[in-house]
Amino acid sequence: MEIVADRVVTIHYTLKDDRGAVLDSSAGGEPLAYIQGHGNLVAGLEKALEGNQEGKTLSVVIPPEDGYGKRDAALIQHVPKRSLQGSGEIKKGMQFQAGTGDGVRMFTVTAVVGDMITLDGNHPLADKTLHFDVEVVSVRAATTQELEHGHVHGAGGHHH
Ligand code: ZN
Repeated sequence: MEIVADRVVTIHYTLKDDRGAVLDSSAGGEPLAYIQGHGNLVAGLEKALEGNQEGKTLSVVIPPEDGYGKRDAALIQHVPKRSLQGSGEIKKGMQFQAGTGDGVRMFTVTAVVGDMITLDGNHPLADKTLHFDVEVVSVRAATTQELEHGHVHGAGGHHH
């Protein structure tokens, strides 16, 4: 069955950066299940998978614009420690959810200097060219309920 919108697709994937370092992989675990055409994957990967079938393997290079986007300097903020009161000791690498103009975003503490901390709301993979090796494991029609929920039920997906 071909990958087109509203079909449930399961893939095994390995994601590498420009230097060949593995950033993420489903190898050795469950394949990833998603619904094609619903923005579940980065745009460049959905685009590359469209029209392929079970058993197909492909290598895709995705520029940041079709991946996790370009770094946005406006998402880097310097705030006093006391604005995160109640969070305990604040250390580099900690993550916080915060509301922004366009919804809730994850911020990472990238520096702690004196009483000031630097928060970065960019995706950790922003500005990166993504190198995906993908194997299409299966393709099936989504159920009505899956389409209503916008996610996959059963193996590799959400469980209710
Ligand atoms: Zn559901």
